[in-house]
Amino acid sequence: MVLPAARTNAEAHLYMDLHPCACGEIHFPRTSSVVTTPDGVLASRYAGTCPQDGAEREFLFRLPERVMPPPPDGVMVYGGPEPSELIDPGEWLSIADAFARSVPADTASLAADGLATARAMLVRAVAAVEEVLKFIPAGADRVRHYTRCLAGSLGGEPWARVIKLSDFTDNGVGMIHTVGPRTPGLAAKYAAAVPVLRELLDRPDTPCRRA
Ligand SMILES: [Zn+2]
Repeated sequence: MVLPAARTNAEAHLYMDLHPCACGEIHFPRTSSVVTTPDGVLASRYAGTCPQDGAEREFLFRLPERVMPPPPDGVMVYGGPEPSELIDPGEWLSIADAFARSVPADTASLAADGLATARAMLVRAVAAVEEVLKFIPAGADRVRHYTRCLAGSLGGEPWARVIKLSDFTDNGVGMIHTVGPRTPGLAAKYAAAVPVLRELLDRPDTPCRRA
């Protein structure tokens, strides 16, 4: 069996969080090292002892061919454009949902650090939705799936809408500087997203003041 690759440390940790110890404990102090498997494959190895029952935990992931640089502060990236080998689309959707649900619907009462945590959770939720999209084949279906996922995942999450809208403003509007073969595909994706995002922006519970 080919050892699945973890594209980033964040993806490896997320995968380990999805696979708790037999006693149910998720966390364990994780030390990581790079090892060579008996098949001669370079792998990252995470190991540690479960704090609840003392069980030895160990996870091995193939090192990706291209190691991604860590993202800037406030940004979450689980991997490159290729789909995950560790987590399937349904799991990514559940992950997005769990992150989004960890944020209270009413953020007005949160202090600054609570808001920062809420934002970090929503950034992770959006990144997990982006992972679902990487499984969708290129072409028209991809655009339809993209807009459907966008509308579905942001419908119940007013603050995630704001993050996605600012993300979109960065990427979508940046298209005017894009040249080359990627332009038509990007144009189709962003054009289809505009009405969906406009409708989400216009909803009364989206926390954006009108100018
Ligand atoms: Zn345990």
